[in-house]
Amino acid sequence: MSGNWEAQFADAPDILKSAPDQKTVVQAGPVVIGNGGFVTMAGPCSVETERQLMETAECVAAAGARILRGGAFKPRSSPYAFQGLGLDGLRLLARARAATGLAVVTEVMAAADAPVVAEYADILQIGSRSMENYALLEAAAHTGRPILLKRGMVATVADLLRSAQCIVSHGNPNVILCERGIRTFDTATRNTFDVAAIVVLQQIARLPVIADPSHAAGRRQFVPALARTAVAAGADGLIVEVHPHPDQAWSDGEQSLSFAEFDTMMADLAPWCELRACCGCALETVA
Ligand code: PEP
Ligand code: MN
Repeated sequence: MSGNWEAQFADAPDILKSAPDQKTVVQAGPVVIGNGGFVTMAGPCSVETERQLMETAECVAAAGARILRGGAFKPRSSPYAFQGLGLDGLRLLARARAATGLAVVTEVMAAADAPVVAEYADILQIGSRSMENYALLEAAAHTGRPILLKRGMVATVADLLRSAQCIVSHGNPNVILCERGIRTFDTATRNTFDVAAIVVLQQIARLPVIADPSHAAGRRQFVPALARTAVAAGADGLIVEVHPHPDQAWSDGEQSLSFAEFDTMMADLAPWCELRACCGCALETVA
């Protein structure tokens, strides 16, 4: 690569750090992301039933997650697959928040839905398939809620930063970047987890960076190890799929952890998170 390496990120001036330790701290309900701590978001791929969501929320809260994930509007590859509960799903998420104190992150798929999703959610998720839907980015930005921006599956790091710039340019600086795996020729995992993107983003971007090992792996047996690499790479958090009965999940069951598997993963991650807390800053600033 040439000496002009930084030029590829020039379209994202408000995302790039102007000092090595510059970092946007995002507040989502009672949870702070990007202040040096490590935040786990967990829950089912899709909100299915009240019982499924409540049980999952209680499990992930007890294991140390701070934010409940769950899709109410689902971007499904097949038009015949379950498309999500919509508004009923949002209502269930709000009920789970009230019962557990977890903050809520959920996907918004259409610009017209942004206000109603913002009424119920603490963080609006822009999915991989929507990363370049600029009308949606603008509508989501205007709600004033923090935005979890997932990397498109064929997006470069520069593309991701451009989309983040789009949100910030519409007056919303509270963006969390998410590496969730990209398309490559390899079929061993659902997507190829680009751990280098986490390292690069932490060095050049001021925004918090989290990892989604579930959509990267596609298979639950790989999720804990990918989560560990995300901690070691300096991520600010994780978003992980968890289901009471993964084999019966209405979407993404193969990559969802059971409650016991999530408990074990969280316990195993704890010492790595402590290590990250001691040397994470050093990781980010070594140039
Ligand atoms: C999801 O979080 O369930 C999801 C659809 O993720 P992605 O947009 O990364 O595929
Ligand atoms: Mn999913």
